Amino acid sequence: MANLINGKEIAAQVKAEVAKESEKLAEYGVTPGLAVIIVGDDPASKIYVRNKKRACEEVGFYSEEFALPEKTSQKELLDLIDTLNKRFDIDGILVQLPLPKHLNEKTIIGAISPKKDVDAFSPFNVGRVMIGEYRFLPCTPAGVMELIKSTGVEISGKNCVVIGRSNIVGKPMAMMLLHENGTVTVCHSKTENLSEITSKADILISAVGKAHFVTADMVKEGAVVIDVGMNNDEDGKLCGDVDFESVEPKAGYITPVPGGVGPMTIAMLMKNTLTAAKLNSAVAAKRPPKK
Ligand code: NAP
Repeated sequence: MANLINGKEIAAQVKAEVAKESEKLAEYGVTPGLAVIIVGDDPASKIYVRNKKRACEEVGFYSEEFALPEKTSQKELLDLIDTLNKRFDIDGILVQLPLPKHLNEKTIIGAISPKKDVDAFSPFNVGRVMIGEYRFLPCTPAGVMELIKSTGVEISGKNCVVIGRSNIVGKPMAMMLLHENGTVTVCHSKTENLSEITSKADILISAVGKAHFVTADMVKEGAVVIDVGMNNDEDGKLCGDVDFESVEPKAGYITPVPGGVGPMTIAMLMKNTLTAAKLNSAVAAKRPPKK
């Protein structure tokens, strides 16, 4: 039977540390500020934004939500980002993805000042992650790293397999494991003999987006299994990519869904916003007083 990795508990620890640091910053008159922009009415995005706002309250940050209508033009959105880039009370800017089709995601994300890009999605910050000289790590893979470290299993020298190669999860995940001296294989929809590769993984991370995708025959006995997937099962219930029932008895450590990677993503966002506030604190002294 696998040890359950409690993402909720670890996320609470991360947020408690952030709250403590935030209190220290308050002594210098600095309140970390996060702006969250949401365009349109996607119900899942609305829930994510609400959770981010709640987390900001928990750790003592200032947060501001910009809920824009679906028909918002690219120029309007870029103008808002430009204004937020210049505001002293805003340290982090997050644009909730996905954006409506008429908006160019790359252009929008690229317009966020690298110092305020707390999602670390802009090409500048992606490049820094690539060379291992980062200020911000993308939140989901950063959260996964914390979960792996919580098991006490060494990454160095281990066979690490990542299923999924998206820019926001799979690719940065692989890079972070590489920085920790893992021997990394990245799999995707064109990968041949997937289960042959995954069943050699000491550490297996699934970021595919398909319910019951990872089954017991794909997993090595005693492996660390991290489930990034967020899907709905046949009954409409939230589930991950991993077929928990069959994989759990075989794995050494496993994350549940919900309660695994999800809470960590938000905790790492808080950590990044704190980092941003520290980076910006040289100019923070010039902040106008809060209304
Ligand atoms: P994505 O952009 O859709 O990428 C999915 C990846 O899975 C792609 O690289 C795709 O390969 C690969 N894939 C699809 N079918 C496959 C197959 N049969 N065999 C092997 N690989 C296959 O998704 P994402 O944004 O990375 O997200 C992945 C999942 O994580 C989703 O369920 C998402 O909701 C979840 N997620 C959770 C959090 C969290 O906080 N918990 C955060 C972000 C994402 P190709 O590149 O070849 O198409």
